[in-house]
Amino acid sequence: MTRVFNFSAGPAMLPTEVIEQARQEMPDWHGSGMSVMEMSHRGKEFMSIAEQAEQDLRDLLAIPDNYRVLFLQGGASQQFAMVPLNLMGRSGKADYANTGAWSKKAIAEGRRYGEVHVCASSEDDGFNSVPDFAEWELSKDAAYVHITPNETIGGVEYPGLPDTGDVPIVADMSSTILSRPIDVSRYGIIYAGAQKNVGPAGLTLVIVRDDLIGQAADSVPAMLNYKTHADAGSMYNTPPTYAWYLAGLVFQWIKRRGGLETMGDINRRKAEKLYAAIDGSDFYANPVRPEHRSWMNVPFTLKDPALDPLFLEGAAERGLKTLKGHRSVGGMRASIYNAMPEEGVDALIAYMDEFAKQHG
Ligand SMILES: *Cc1c(COP(=O)(O)O)cnc(C)c1O
Repeated sequence: MTRVFNFSAGPAMLPTEVIEQARQEMPDWHGSGMSVMEMSHRGKEFMSIAEQAEQDLRDLLAIPDNYRVLFLQGGASQQFAMVPLNLMGRSGKADYANTGAWSKKAIAEGRRYGEVHVCASSEDDGFNSVPDFAEWELSKDAAYVHITPNETIGGVEYPGLPDTGDVPIVADMSSTILSRPIDVSRYGIIYAGAQKNVGPAGLTLVIVRDDLIGQAADSVPAMLNYKTHADAGSMYNTPPTYAWYLAGLVFQWIKRRGGLETMGDINRRKAEKLYAAIDGSDFYANPVRPEHRSWMNVPFTLKDPALDPLFLEGAAERGLKTLKGHRSVGGMRASIYNAMPEEGVDALIAYMDEFAKQHG
């Protein structure tokens, strides 16, 4: 069987070692006689899994003590509502940066709950860059500033963070969390659907600063209130136990590999060589401004879009799967999250080279 490298944007590849460990542990977790799927979330076995996973995530990201980690459901899309439901009431107004498809969704949802001020936008640039931080029009009375540090569809990634003073930054890190070290203390809230760089679909991570918990109005449903989940250790109701466990295995895998410094080095190398292959040919192209290119999602087009189906067919034959670009962008997109080995990127580059020689 050809080795498969899955370039899907999400649900995405998981580390082979993690899949193997999960397979071995599936019928009988550590001699408990049960699968993790069958355990009570309040039993001592699952509690130990849950606590270990949180501790490992805290270690990896060096999460300060004044932040809570919540293991929720509903995806990043539910956070588009939970963030304003919990925080907008602080002033009735929030700043949002518009950098692509996912920002737009967050903005549309935010508008249901208060005044959304678009403080920066790259729409005029076709969403091919991050607006210069010096030009952001931040509101002094904003409850928060919402950003999308990595636009998964456009392949645009922030080169850093804007200075928002005392206004907390809320970041949708669904497709970039754990790809490199970050300074958590610069954020008010970080959230991420797990299915890209953390684990299987069904789990949503929220890292929230203490003082931003407990600010929701009484009318906010209990399940959508951060306080409910913070007070209950993410066990107010049944959490996504198996996804939580698998995320924990991924955290341990990252630790074994050397943590986020190492992941960052590998991810930078993978991205650099793929962009170099695109830029070095006149057959492939990527429209994003070089300093804002994503390390995680690399969209590219072929000189002649009529060749797209042939490119995809040949790729699939070589085990290079799910390279078709998002329907809104067309072309190709290679998502190269943590679990994508460097060999996968090398195999893609070799195939791209070969295809361009044949059809260029
Ligand atoms: C995938 C993605 C989402 C949507 O995530 P769901 O978990 O499916 O709701 C939101 N934001 C970004 C940046 C994403 O990559």
